[in-house]
Amino acid sequence: MATLTHPEPAEAASSADGYRHLIDGRLVGSSQSFDVFDPATGEVFAQCPSADRADLDRAVAAAKRAFPAWSRTPIAERRAMLAAFAQRIRDDAEALHPLLTREQGKPLADSLGELQRIGDHIEGMASLPLDSVVLSEGPRERIEMRWRPLGVVGAIAPWNVPVALGMHKVAHALYTGNTIVLKPSPYTPLTTLAVGALAVGIFPDGVFNVLAGGNELGALMTGHPDIDKVSFTGSVATGKKVAASSADSLKRVTLELGGNDPAVVLADADVEAAADGIARSAFANCGQICMAVKRVYVAAPLYDQMVAALVKRAEAIVWGPGTRPGVRMGPIQNAMQYDKVASVIDRTRADPAAKFETGGQLPGGPGYFVPPTIVTGLADDAALVCEEQFGPVLPILRYEDEADAIRRANDTRFGLGASVWGSDTAHAAAVGQQLEAGQVWVNRHGGNPVNVPFGGAKESGLGREHGVEGLRSYMEMQIVTVPVA
Ligand code: NAD
Repeated sequence: MATLTHPEPAEAASSADGYRHLIDGRLVGSSQSFDVFDPATGEVFAQCPSADRADLDRAVAAAKRAFPAWSRTPIAERRAMLAAFAQRIRDDAEALHPLLTREQGKPLADSLGELQRIGDHIEGMASLPLDSVVLSEGPRERIEMRWRPLGVVGAIAPWNVPVALGMHKVAHALYTGNTIVLKPSPYTPLTTLAVGALAVGIFPDGVFNVLAGGNELGALMTGHPDIDKVSFTGSVATGKKVAASSADSLKRVTLELGGNDPAVVLADADVEAAADGIARSAFANCGQICMAVKRVYVAAPLYDQMVAALVKRAEAIVWGPGTRPGVRMGPIQNAMQYDKVASVIDRTRADPAAKFETGGQLPGGPGYFVPPTIVTGLADDAALVCEEQFGPVLPILRYEDEADAIRRANDTRFGLGASVWGSDTAHAAAVGQQLEAGQVWVNRHGGNPVNVPFGGAKESGLGREHGVEGLRSYMEMQIVTVPVA
């Protein structure tokens, strides 16, 4: 067995409401802190410790020190420690989920679901094979393709599914023998810090570190000389900065970025089933999912029916504070994103062609609420069609022929996901193959098992996470050629 350490939590250096960074196996505070807001009220409800360059240097140095022993720890032992961590998260999900709702806004049931699924994800990733591959074996030599861990991973997460997206990176990094420094979004840092605290005593010191801080901490990470790989999930604009900053030291980089996923509804689609699936995707998490349906293209003969079916579903969604019983859609997570969504709505309202089929009226606070909104009549170059709205505002567009729908669906710099809806599933799959997206679903949108690689085409990303390919993106290929005796 690898040596397990059981550090005592260090005294906090700040009074940031009891939240602590995890550095070198210890929970530590900071002299600085920043505000965390409740998006349902717009009010500050907690202080979060804010890591500075010295904290980052300490965490990276600890991760670097821990790497040699961790990378040599047998896979079965790494897997067992990850399983212990997964179980602690399961055990604490019930107690932690109100905090996630408080800082992120999503309904309590969704917060509980996010936390409960993390354990299975960690164990699922840690059950995938990491075997080497024999490329050739002749009378003279044997050539093998192997993968070695890279070193210290810097992981940077967004605010929409904050804990799961961070912890998925932890599973990738630690199972493959890397060590990690994880930075949650400054909008949603607290539950990730709380989950980080659950790791104390499970992994050797320095293997797993969590630091909260602002965007500048992310930039320090991507420029840090002792971070060997950056795994980033966030917006396209920040992803480009991450890629540029990482280029200096040729860090390995995985970018999971934004999307503007089309759903193409074919003329033979089951309207009710398609409306169920599309509405579920478009309005889940208040539209704040990278791979949500963000534009719907409907074959002309089904158009009116489809608009009516989607409006019915949008109007049935109970929205409000995530803590209120029965609420299925909470607020937008933060003021910056609320302003972006409000701006898209304003620009859409100014378009004489736009028709708000439902929604579009902002209640105006307190809290960052946007009702489920459906808009028709837009041209292909309207902001709501071209931009990633990342909110519950869905444009529906009519098309006359499939080739035209495919061309319009592809007329974007994004390429994360896409779906095609139709009764002839072979035909729908053939249409899907023509869509420029990292993943295409027929008759559903989103959601993959853990062994399926996920990532974006075009500006929606670089590389893949999840599945064996995702694990290998945290490793360097090594070809080993050995003479046969
Ligand atoms: P963001 O790009 O603003 O921030 C993401 C993270 O990057 C945060 O932790 C932030 O502090 C950090 N950051 C900001 N500036 C940085 C810099 N210069 N260098 C390094 N780090 C920096 O994204 P967001 O608004 O938090 O997240 C929403 C976006 O994330 C949407 O576009 C969404 O589609 C995308 N997303 C993608 C996926 C995916 O898997 N493809 C999943 C979820 C979200």
